[in-house]
Amino acid sequence: MLTIKCSKCKTKLLKYQKLGSGKVLKCHKSRIKRTYKLEKDLEDYRCKCGNFIGRDEGSFIKMYEQGFIYTGTKE
Ligand SMILES: [Zn+2]
Repeated sequence: MLTIKCSKCKTKLLKYQKLGSGKVLKCHKSRIKRTYKLEKDLEDYRCKCGNFIGRDEGSFIKMYEQGFIYTGTKE
């Protein structure tokens, strides 16, 4: 499980079950296990500090690589 945090203010945003060892490019909504301070403005997901995290693409969030950091393990 990965804990995804804002790259700016380090606030926890979500817990995500990442399959495979690849980059975190998308977060499939069905594998998001918990959300914290993630805010949605139209199609954009942002941290509460305003930092852009990603874009809603329906079944997944297209993640903005510079917007987040993560800890934890991929499966
Ligand atoms: Zn933030």
